[in-house]
This record gives sequence, structure tokens and C-alpha cells, in this order.
Amino acid sequence: MGHVALRELTKTFEKDGNEIVAVSDLGIEIEDGEFLVLVGPSGCGKSTTLRCIAGLERTTDGEIWIGDGEVTDEKPKNRDIAMVFQNYALYPHMTARENMSFGLKMTTNLSSGEIDERVDDAAEMMGIEELLEKTPGELSGGQQQRVALGRAIVRDPAVFLMDEPLSNLDAKLRASMRTELQDLQQKLDVTTVYVTHDQTEAMTMGDRIAILNAGELCQIGSPLECYHYPDSRFVASFIGSPSMNFIDGKIEHADEGATIRTSAFEYALGEETVDRITDPVTDVVLGIRPEDIRVATGADDGIRADVSVTEPVGERTYVYLDIGDVSCTASIPGDSTYEPGETIEIVIPEDRIHLFDRDTDEAIL
Ligand code: ATP
Repeated sequence: MGHVALRELTKTFEKDGNEIVAVSDLGIEIEDGEFLVLVGPSGCGKSTTLRCIAGLERTTDGEIWIGDGEVTDEKPKNRDIAMVFQNYALYPHMTARENMSFGLKMTTNLSSGEIDERVDDAAEMMGIEELLEKTPGELSGGQQQRVALGRAIVRDPAVFLMDEPLSNLDAKLRASMRTELQDLQQKLDVTTVYVTHDQTEAMTMGDRIAILNAGELCQIGSPLECYHYPDSRFVASFIGSPSMNFIDGKIEHADEGATIRTSAFEYALGEETVDRITDPVTDVVLGIRPEDIRVATGADDGIRADVSVTEPVGERTYVYLDIGDVSCTASIPGDSTYEPGETIEIVIPEDRIHLFDRDTDEAIL
């Protein structure tokens, strides 16, 4: 059983007489067999959370459960976990086979025949049968990471804990290893907690993602839930690339519907949209994703915008726009071309907008 529960987990550090709250009151339930990604900007507490689950850090407060047992004060070796690090952490003087079997030799009573069998199975799974007699110095970064993953697999743990395991690999290898890791996780059906600061990695790999900021959990949900229904401006800006556009405005209500007045344009809201607003604040931030902006020359409801820069990235082109004193980005199909200096019209579809309370940053639509 690889169910993992973090209950009111808090971890503080003491540095130069100051208390640093790395993780604050974190509550997360991770299902057996789930692939959960912890994501957030540098310093948000991802690694500390993972290290607490592993038992490499003592928690300051709260509880950690793995399966049916509380492990808050257990030693790492009693937690039935296997950890994979960014820097592989292989023993340099040992061959790949020795690296993969070392943990089993130390912590189990398996015979050397049984250990060899497990190593051979894991090596086959990772496609590294030919590398087993080589030392880490003779292997590429990608091959070392395969050995490190193989070493985790042979342990047959209840939980895999992975801390940015792909971040030392080049972009192409990272993309292919992502898919491979996901396939592997599904095949093995082992609960996995995976730390990354890369939102693309989080979006593509996780069954669910937990977005952290400043030690706190901002939102947890499926990647698409977090993309379509961000709870806060922070989550909205962190998930999605290029980032969501945010435009300050004030709502003025009328008999039917309402108008958002920004410094550059007015945006009419229909009654149905107004009914869905959860908090009747006046100062709002209008959010629209670059890929939701339509360019529609001659549209009745278009907003005039000046093209400042275009950035073709292949399938899409990013168009940087000035609408009066408001800057925003549109992501349009790569085959459409606009020139810097050109004036175009854009449409912001009402069913695609987000609204945030400007004071609290919480989503109100
Ligand atoms: P990154 O992506 O940069 O690794 P992170 O989200 O994993 O960041 P953590 O490494 O968990 O963040 O750090 C969270 C906070 O705790 C940071 O402010 C960090 O400086 C602090 N911190 C982490 N470990 C220690 C430590 N051993 N002593 C003091 N402060 C620490």
C-alpha cells in the first residue's frame, strides 16, 4: 500500500538567528499508485517536503503517513521508499550492477542470486543491460540517470520520491525520459512524488499537481483543472506558457451585466458571467491566456492593438501587443503573420476570461 498522507506538515530552519518557514501546514493525501508532482518556484519548499517524506529532514510539526503507518519519526530505511536525485548520487567506484544491488545487500536478506535477478529485470526495464559492468564515470548523464532509476526499481518500494531527476539532461533527452518515466510508473503502479520547478514537466507528467508557493499549498488538482480553473492569480501565472495576461480594471455594474474599465479599453460582461462572479469586489484583475486571444481584423467587438514584437516558435507565433498603456501577449497559429508596427484587432472571448480580486489575488470567476 503506497498511500501517502501529509497532515499539517511544517518544517522550519534556523539560520543566523532567524526562523525560515520552508513548509507551512501542508495537507496532502496521495493515492496509492498516483503520480503526484510538487511544483513551484525556487525556494517554495518542494525539496524540503520530499526530504521530510523520505525522512532525510525531521519535521517540525505535523504527521507523515505511508500506507497504514505513521512514519513521522521513522528512519529513512524503515519507510519503504526509494529516492532518485537530480545528481544521480551513484557510488563512483562501483559498477552499475553494484550500485543497483548495494541497497538490497545492505537492507534485505535476499540471496545474491535473487538480487542478480532483480537487477537484471530492472536493467531490462531501463534498457541498460549492456551497461551493468561499467562505472558511472564511463556513462553519459542519461545513462547514469537510468542506473539511478534502476536502483530505485530493484528496491520494489511502496513509494518513489524523485527530486528533479531529469534536470541535468539536455532538452531532447529530458522530453523522451519524461514519457519513459510515466510509462514506467504506470507499469509498476508505484505511488510517485515528483519534484520539479518546470511547469511543463508538471503538466505533462502528473496525475495531479500540487502547486506550492512560499511553503504553502496554493492548489492541488489535475493539470487541466489547475490550467482551466486556477484558484489564484499566482497559480494562473505559474501554469501555462507563455504566462496568462493580467490587466487591472474596475467593475461597474449595470441593470444588465457589467463593464470592466481598464486603463486601455472597456470590456462588457453579460449577465450570465456576472452571475458566476463569486465575490462582488470592485477592483479586479482581468486574466486572459495568450492562446485564448483571437485576432479578428474587422470584428465588431474587437479591441485595437499595436503589434510590438512577433516571435515565431514553429507551430505558434507569440505576438506582443500594446493596447494603449497595457501590454499583452497573444499566441496565434504559426502560419499567420503580423508585422511590428501593424495595428490589429483582438477579441477576448467572454467564456475564456478569468477574474481575480486585486487585493487578495483570489479567483472570483
Ligand atoms: P529549489 O527549486 O530552488 O530547490 P525548493 O522549492 O525545493 O527550491 P527548498 O529547497 O525546499 O525549496 O527550500 C525552501 C526554503 O527553505 C528556502 O527558503 C531555503 O533557503 C530554506 N532551506 C532549505 N534547506 C535549508 C537548510 N538546511 N537550512 C536553512 N534553510 C534551508
